[in-house]
Amino acid sequence: MEDDDVRERLAAVRDRVRRACEAAGRAPDAVTLLLASKAQPLAAVRAALEADADLRAAGLRAAGLRAAGPVPAPVLLGENRVQELVAKAPLLADLDPAWHFIGPLQSNKVNAVLRFARCVQTVAAPELADRLAARAAGLPAPLDVMVQVNVSGEPTKSGVAPSAARALALHVAALPGLRLTGFMTVGANSPDERVVAAGYDALRALRDEVVTGGAPGTAAADGLSMGMSRDLELAIAHGATVVRVGTAVFGSR
Ligand SMILES: *Cc1c(COP(=O)(O)O)cnc(C)c1O
Repeated sequence: MEDDDVRERLAAVRDRVRRACEAAGRAPDAVTLLLASKAQPLAAVRAALEADADLRAAGLRAAGLRAAGPVPAPVLLGENRVQELVAKAPLLADLDPAWHFIGPLQSNKVNAVLRFARCVQTVAAPELADRLAARAAGLPAPLDVMVQVNVSGEPTKSGVAPSAARALALHVAALPGLRLTGFMTVGANSPDERVVAAGYDALRALRDEVVTGGAPGTAAADGLSMGMSRDLELAIAHGATVVRVGTAVFGSR
């Protein structure tokens, strides 16, 4: 994949997000784009970050001229594997991207992740939350975390069961050192859009329940990380605040 292709594809995805927000009656900056960089060469990730800065600068100029709408936030970067995060992050540090960890995390890898990630989206058990909290206590600011929920119940998918998700969220919210910023899921692997949408609605209902419950530490828990290359429009229509996109920007892995 050439850098120009990455640039074009990123612009196209930005456009898809913008149009999906418009169709859903949501503000153009209501959804943040996370680029899932797993198995992608460093050059492609760098090209995407640079292209994003250019696109946003152009968008800001346009918004200034029209005295119009908000411009979406810079892209986030997401990594699934600790090893890849540790390898890539230092080499992109000059661009200061915000890394989110979006893969399964073993307790013994927590320190490596905390060196680079601003948010761990994949907290699916109280033990991991406790370990993160203990290590994050030494950081200057709390670590952002999301609770990952397996809304579809597919056995191959990570995430806490929906029935245990609220309790886990409240556990996380009460931990010092962590800031609960919302909920994450990988949508059902189904050709039936209604099945996928039902999972997204379940995540949103859980989010609403936790946030309106008003327990300590839940005030910032309004994020919904859901939707990928093939279904980001659906996820945005159902309330996503972060969509995680890999192949649509970088091509196949
Ligand atoms: C790879 C990955 C994505 C992106 O998937 P695409 O289909 O390539 O857009 C999103 N979320 C997670 C957790 C991933 O591992």
